[in-house]
Amino acid sequence: MHHPDQYLDFEQSAFTWFRADRGYYFDDKARLEDPKPLMNQTPQKKSEPPYLLETLETTGFIRSRVIEQELALFLKFAEVQPTKENTLAFANEYGMLTPGKSLCTPKYSYLKGKKAPWKHGIAILSEKKDDKRDYGAVYSESLNFWKKELHDMALTVKVWEWVKNQDISALTEVIHWNKDGTGVNCKLDKAGGWLASNDYHQEVFARFRQGDILLPAKYLVQSRVNKKLRQHTTRPRILLGNNNRLEPYFMPESLIAAMWFQFFQAAVGETKFKRCLICGQWADVTQKNRNWSKHPECANRERVRKNWEKNRKKQA
Ligand SMILES: [Zn+2]
Repeated sequence: MHHPDQYLDFEQSAFTWFRADRGYYFDDKARLEDPKPLMNQTPQKKSEPPYLLETLETTGFIRSRVIEQELALFLKFAEVQPTKENTLAFANEYGMLTPGKSLCTPKYSYLKGKKAPWKHGIAILSEKKDDKRDYGAVYSESLNFWKKELHDMALTVKVWEWVKNQDISALTEVIHWNKDGTGVNCKLDKAGGWLASNDYHQEVFARFRQGDILLPAKYLVQSRVNKKLRQHTTRPRILLGNNNRLEPYFMPESLIAAMWFQFFQAAVGETKFKRCLICGQWADVTQKNRNWSKHPECANRERVRKNWEKNRKKQA
């Protein structure tokens, strides 16, 4: 069966993640298994179809070192518009966000004696009903879970980018001092609440200068990233390096944990990302000159275009 531990790794390797070799789909009929979860996890009470499942044609899972291949995957994730189609496209490329262990085990059934429709990832759970059907479960994630995670990443990246660019006018929409200066509110999307005040996170509030927007915004990013890192954890471990030296390594528990860890690295300045001035895409500039502002290819294309326009004007 599609048991998460099967995909977790040995203590001497780097993070890899898996995706179904024949892709995924959203199943509207899948329901949460109840009442006991397969693993020693807290069951989810509410069933929220549709659920993301590997397709019936799945024969196995492909592993890749996705985080090393895409250092800015968290930024790519942040730009996924939270529709069913876009979610599916992301899953088909990178896999699910978690091994499914803390989320859901949707249930599906098939006629007894028939071959299970799943080639992979099936666990027969029960034959509770006398309806001539076998009931199985696979690990999965609901579309709502994806939407929530996409939303959390998009908002946090947005505020982080504003802080990086010191975009005070954008941040003013999010960070609000109350009139008497005794507290700061944040309003992200529709949700809002106290960020810090005289009697809430006082130690942080004491650092704020009244009316300042930037530091409270920075704190907002800090607290949101920390919250997600608690939820989706990354554990330190020791790897035996090439020259048999003991080397530190940070092992995310899942793809979503890995992306928040990427964000963590970017937020503390361990990695650096900038948007290209021409194409607007994120670029990894960790090893680049401080003044990097555009992809060389973009700059080149721009030069060619300008030349072409100049020549055209000359001819006209
Ligand atoms: Zn570019």
